[in-house]
Amino acid sequence: MTSDRTAIIAGNWKMHYGPKKAKSFAAEIVPQLGQLLTHYPQLLCVLCPPTISLPAVYDVLAENPLARLELGAQNMHYEVQGAFTGEVSPTMVHELCRNVILGHSERRMYFGETDELVNKKVKAALNHGLRPIVCIGENEEQYEAAHTERVIRSQVMGSLASIPEQQVRDVVIAYEPIWAIGTGKAASADDAEKVMRLIRELYSATYNAAAGDAVRILYGGSVTAKNIGELIAQPDIDGALVGGASIKADFVELLHQAGEAQS
Ligand code: PEP
Repeated sequence: MTSDRTAIIAGNWKMHYGPKKAKSFAAEIVPQLGQLLTHYPQLLCVLCPPTISLPAVYDVLAENPLARLELGAQNMHYEVQGAFTGEVSPTMVHELCRNVILGHSERRMYFGETDELVNKKVKAALNHGLRPIVCIGENEEQYEAAHTERVIRSQVMGSLASIPEQQVRDVVIAYEPIWAIGTGKAASADDAEKVMRLIRELYSATYNAAAGDAVRILYGGSVTAKNIGELIAQPDIDGALVGGASIKADFVELLHQAGEAQS
């Protein structure tokens, strides 16, 4: 990645760790993450526990305040309040978090989220001071049929529709090929880099070259301490969205390897 885009390593804990376990796990890793972040000023780390565990992890971070260690939610509604049982709003998320993952493939797959809905959520996040981490990616069938470019193009355009250039710079894109999520079969660094470049070109064509250069693009899908170095060394890969490896102490080593690869 280039030096003017601080890399992001975000951990998506998915539906793992209720408040008690989240607190003890965070208390275990946060001091170590803190040491690494002090050593690697070009890294930003985002922890995304389940909604119910956000306050517990927030408390741990409040006891160990670090500028580049932030909290993120895994989803939110686009309305500020109302009769939406079971949902949380952007303003509620903003009380604890700076980041929010939106349009994760599991939300698209199991909860019917469309680009149109993701677009509403992205706008709401931006309007309420949150940094959206917008997930896109093709499934295995689309990959095999060589439709990746078409899928990526339509997801980027759909998820970011009518967002002005001043705001779109705050959006982080996470390219997560669905066939690579939780399978242990990560995309090769070369293949991931090609898609990143495509996304950057799309931004340049839609907005301008500066926007294409500024957008941070993460790779997600079976990222571990072993492959993060090669991935993050690619010129257009600005970090990773990490699932399985983010709920183990190994996440610390992953951050270490990311920092080393950039030094
Ligand atoms: C994810 O769910 O965003 C993800 C990338 O998962 P994993 O790292 O486990 O493949």
